[in-house]
Amino acid sequence: MIHTGGTIGMIPTEHGYAPSKEAFHRVLASIPELSSPVVPAWDLMDLDPLLDSSNISVNEWNRIGSMIADHYDDYDGFVVLHGTDTMAYTASALSFMLRNNAKPVILTGSQIPLCEIRNDARDNLLTSLLIAADGRVHEVCLYFGGKLLRGNRAMKYSADDLIAFDSPNYPPLAEAGIEIRYNTELLMPPCEGKFSLQLLENIPIGVIKIFPGIQFELFDAVMTEKLKGIVIETFGAGNIPGDENAVLPIIRKATENGTVLVICSQCPHGTVMLGAYEASETLKNAGAVSGYDLTTEAAVAKLYYLFSRRLPREEIKVRMERSLRGEVTVKQ
Ligand code: ASP
Repeated sequence: MIHTGGTIGMIPTEHGYAPSKEAFHRVLASIPELSSPVVPAWDLMDLDPLLDSSNISVNEWNRIGSMIADHYDDYDGFVVLHGTDTMAYTASALSFMLRNNAKPVILTGSQIPLCEIRNDARDNLLTSLLIAADGRVHEVCLYFGGKLLRGNRAMKYSADDLIAFDSPNYPPLAEAGIEIRYNTELLMPPCEGKFSLQLLENIPIGVIKIFPGIQFELFDAVMTEKLKGIVIETFGAGNIPGDENAVLPIIRKATENGTVLVICSQCPHGTVMLGAYEASETLKNAGAVSGYDLTTEAAVAKLYYLFSRRLPREEIKVRMERSLRGEVTVKQ
């Protein structure tokens, strides 16, 4: 288990919930089920410092990835305890960084800390450990509130429900009711290549959300060649306001600067279809690539990954429109 911080291990302080390594270790030691013979043997590693996940970024992804890579042969699986706020980003990033990964890497956390009497942490933790030792899963997943989701398909959709995550474009890989029922036909087969870790660089990228009345010309100043990639969250199936004079020069400038523009949808469910409407034809003609049903979280992580591999820009565009780890459904 890799403990990175987040609500699961937090304790109440006068400034609100905050992570505490000692308190979390004490609480874990007080749970008899964790040493039951039914639960796999586990060791615990802590990230230093422990973080609220809103502070987790590329550096921490590299550190978590390195902890897994350094111990890859020592364990059958890994459970990453993580704050819920950016868990879907970390799950997406790890899915790309861990190349030829054949082991279960299960991210989990909770909405209520383990130290509280009434909590969702205990089940999330125990079930994640069982899944990580089961042998059926060979990919990076997120387990929360009874559902095992593909990590790079997951998104946090509730700030206060105990079922806080969803995977709107891919069914759950398993559901934990009285039994843990795996949807085996949806799981990744084990990779046969040699496992390796791709560390990420802090690539300058951006996310723009389109809204009615958006003044594209104001984005001119940020669309410099320094920006390597932009995820554009568009309306519906990939549509943007049709004010050609304002939009086109900015989009063209970005493409000329070498920026990779990835078109995602503001709708959690469904897919981008560039060119289906006149309103998205512009983006296609200006060289933007379709994110299809990619989540913004996965699109951001994929851009970090592909640029960190130092691939040529045209190759990055091709790979953005291809499934690398089951993160996207490509519609022909
Ligand atoms: N702010 C917390 C975090 O993401 C929320 C949580 O863990 O639920 O670290």
